[in-house]
Amino acid sequence: MKLGILKESPGENRVAMLPESVAILKGLKVDVLVQKDAGENAFAPDKEFEDAGATLETREKVISQSDVLVTIHQLSKDEMKKLKKGQVLLAVLNPFFNKETIEALAKGGVVSFSLDVIPRTTRAQAMDILSSQATVAGYKAVLDAANIFGSFLPMFMTAAGTIKPAKIMIIGAGVAGLQAIATSRKLGAVVEAFDVRTAAREEVKSLGAKFVEVEGAQEDQSAGGYAVEQSEEYKKKQQQAVHDHAVKSDIIICTAQIPGRKAPLILKKETVEGMKPGSVIIDLAASSGGNCELTKNNEVVVHKQVKIIGNSNYPSQLPTDSSRMLGKNIVNFLKLIIGDDGALNLNFEDDIVAGTCVTKEGEIVHEKIKAAYQS
Ligand code: NAD
Repeated sequence: MKLGILKESPGENRVAMLPESVAILKGLKVDVLVQKDAGENAFAPDKEFEDAGATLETREKVISQSDVLVTIHQLSKDEMKKLKKGQVLLAVLNPFFNKETIEALAKGGVVSFSLDVIPRTTRAQAMDILSSQATVAGYKAVLDAANIFGSFLPMFMTAAGTIKPAKIMIIGAGVAGLQAIATSRKLGAVVEAFDVRTAAREEVKSLGAKFVEVEGAQEDQSAGGYAVEQSEEYKKKQQQAVHDHAVKSDIIICTAQIPGRKAPLILKKETVEGMKPGSVIIDLAASSGGNCELTKNNEVVVHKQVKIIGNSNYPSQLPTDSSRMLGKNIVNFLKLIIGDDGALNLNFEDDIVAGTCVTKEGEIVHEKIKAAYQS
């Protein structure tokens, strides 16, 4: 089979895989087509893709000749119309928020897999792009905040006086939040974290941060380890607790998300107004509405000398390792749909293959996504 890798649009520096992953696919007897300059912004030149066994092609040819097309972001509307019936598309489709795209893919008979809905099971861990990219986001968010913040992060005792360590608050201690805690601690800051999942408590503590508990959070075992929507009473209680800690913080990293829903609103405008001038808020949940009331996606808002950075795509700012991790995740998924002879082998009996498939044979086949569209 032929597998095609596309160059991403301007503003996205990553590429779906680096040459090292292409070499693995070649070993699996797959012919790989790569759009010219696809790896340029991730510092992976065309020559390295060729040396790994790929054939360089124009975008049009990669799209028309590939049995399996791999891209991070979605294709344009015109390009989607050119996909053939039965052609396989692997991308981060963000399907809960992109009904129109998913309906168009279904209509075109495309077999689409959305890499952001790969089941979060133990067997799928090596394919989990949400985790690998959240690791990058948590790390880079802290570095960005440290860069912007007007004071040191670590404590210093110098002849010019003692410098107090910065206080960093992390909202949401999932993959990105835990990485943000680890990075903040390595830089010497004093860190505290909030989460609604009690399982996060020990993880937060093991990284040397304080876990701030707000009692009364709802948890649901059937949510697969994810957070669920909280009651109005809890939300108010949490906003107050966050307020009390936020006004003493120098930096806040927001990472709280609920899959398939708008991000919970946790930092109110009044809380931001109570923070010290020069404080920095990084909102990693910006693209799904943000955890802070003042966040604007892909914008920097300055409110009463507090900077609020709405950035949900830090992985693009660390393109080489982000692409390396993405490529490894994608190859691990592809191994499930490539037969011994290198041909496409779609086995929908496999729970990961079935759980990642969004459209096939003209239908939307992912039950949770279908249900979300109907509600
Ligand atoms: P996420 O990006 O969906 O959310 C980030 C964090 O925000 C989560 O910890 C969540 O509990 C928290 N959150 C949501 N609402 C909140 C609120 N109102 N207040 C405070 N915090 C709130 O989550 P994620 O980082 O992708 O991971 C979530 C879970 O999935 C974790 O339990 C993680 O261990 C698990 N996980 C499992 C696998 C696997 O088994 N393959 C892989 C990765 C993550």
